Amino acid sequence: MHCPLCIAERRTPWCTANAVCWVALCSTCGVPMVVLNRHTTRPSWRERRVMRKTLVACATDYYRGRPFVVDEHMSTHPTHAHMHARA
Ligand SMILES: [Zn+2]
Ligand SMILES: [Zn+2]
Repeated sequence: MHCPLCIAERRTPWCTANAVCWVALCSTCGVPMVVLNRHTTRPSWRERRVMRKTLVACATDYYRGRPFVVDEHMSTHPTHAHMHARA
């Protein structure tokens, strides 16, 4: 499988990486984005919860107290579940 999210981009997390997901600045939007490690757009309930928590922790640092919203709409990558934190 030659999926860039499974292989290359995962090596450069901007904020953190754990057993479920990793957080990087989205190259398209320039905002923090969490991406599921697994190659699927259908995370389990538990994975979704970890993704959201991991993203919120990174985005809180990134925005330094400014408000942001978690955008669960999957607009950027068709192959991995992801969420953006937008101001
Ligand atoms: Zn993949
Ligand atoms: Zn994006």
